[in-house]
Amino acid sequence: MTSPGTLHVVGAGLAGLAAGVAAAKAGTRVVLHEAAGHAGGRCRSFLDERLGRVIDNGSHLVLGANRTALAYARATGGIEAMVAAPPAFPFIDLISGKSWTVSPKRLPAGIGEIFKALGLPWTGKAETVASRLGNTPSFTRLWLPMCEAIMNTAPDEASARMFAWTMRKALLGGSDALVPWTFPAGLSAALVAPALATLALFGAETHFRRRLKALRPDALVFDDAEVPLTSADRVILALPPWVVETLLPGSTPAAMPTRPIVNAHFRCAQPVELPHGSHFLGLVHASGHWLFARGDVLSVTVSAAGALVDLDNESIADRLWDEIRRALGMPPIAPPPYRIMKEKRATLAHDPATVVARPGPVTGRDGVFLAGDWIASPWPCTIEAAICSGLAAARLALARPGLTF
Ligand SMILES: Cc1cc2nc3c(=O)[nH]c(=O)nc-3n(C[C@H](O)[C@H](O)[C@H](O)COP(=O)(O)OP(=O)(O)OC[C@H]3O[C@@H](n4cnc5c(N)ncnc54)[C@H](O)[C@@H]3O)c2cc1C
Repeated sequence: MTSPGTLHVVGAGLAGLAAGVAAAKAGTRVVLHEAAGHAGGRCRSFLDERLGRVIDNGSHLVLGANRTALAYARATGGIEAMVAAPPAFPFIDLISGKSWTVSPKRLPAGIGEIFKALGLPWTGKAETVASRLGNTPSFTRLWLPMCEAIMNTAPDEASARMFAWTMRKALLGGSDALVPWTFPAGLSAALVAPALATLALFGAETHFRRRLKALRPDALVFDDAEVPLTSADRVILALPPWVVETLLPGSTPAAMPTRPIVNAHFRCAQPVELPHGSHFLGLVHASGHWLFARGDVLSVTVSAAGALVDLDNESIADRLWDEIRRALGMPPIAPPPYRIMKEKRATLAHDPATVVARPGPVTGRDGVFLAGDWIASPWPCTIEAAICSGLAAARLALARPGLTF
């Protein structure tokens, strides 16, 4: 085994945090560098002054099938700020008014459809979710919302192979695979702050407001400092693809299209309970896809939000609030104070071409590795993909294939 010297992790999203935590716990000297003034990247909480509440950039859900993400949360103690609910996914159709609950024992689909969704007996590499499942009776009430939620890509362009893989993990992954884990105290309390505390505990250094501008063989050039590299040092770039491309030209595919997610957070006059005491509610025949309740804040997520992202915030709030109040049987009242969050590059577009174009973690530069949810993985761009990629990059950088959290 080579001596790794210092491991520099650039980017403190979940991929960078995961790489840093795994390496620091294994006894490696870790230095984490982040351009923003906070960690968490696309998965973070902040105090919204207007609402007077801590909100997330977007509501996130982790499933029991996301085993590496849960291992990371257990290793840092962040799991204490997560809640596992029974595997039941309530939905309401805003046109018919009908509601139903999807659970492992109550899948509203015939066995033939389920086999198709699982990719059986075989799925072509160019097939999309719509070409495979679009004509099935359960498309609108099951496969469409699942596809948008998991892949943040419309079914007529989403890779059927990738969708089938996630369905196999969720539906065939054992009794706990469909358990939804939520974040009642916010994403940062579970996935970010405990990781930073773990890093500090194991002697890692963390630098915020430090943007990497160039990567020389002998130094990392940040906007505020130049950090020399020795031949024993290793670097993990846990950065978005367009940033990596500026640092290592030619290392990412020419086209890595992305898709937006819009979140609207409304602060209601009092705490709101969703039907059946659930933390979330799926919306069908609506612009909003998933409604989350946290105390007096109702948040709605719009995945693959191409049609919505260019509207002004007031129009978005009006439209989404109207859907919320219809779903919850509220009278026609004006939206309460709200905050609209537009993540224009929330994830990659998971179309068949982009899915296979995702590069691996090894770069053409000795000792430099890539991490991030966009790195090649059977998982779509998710918390699980980000954390798996961070762990994989740390294993390579430290030449320790068995490294865990
Ligand atoms: C609204 C929304 C909802 C989502 N919902 C879910 C969900 O329900 N379930 C799920 O599993 N996933 C969900 N995701 C996806 C999940 O958030 C991401 O997959 C994950 O957070 C990606 O982490 P990352 O570390 O790969 O990237 P990022 O979080 O993008 O981290 C990259 C980091 O690099 C930093 N950086 C950039 N340039 C530089 C530079 N030059 N120098 C130093 N630092 C730099 C950035 O500031 C950032 O902190 C959602 C994403 C969004 C946006």
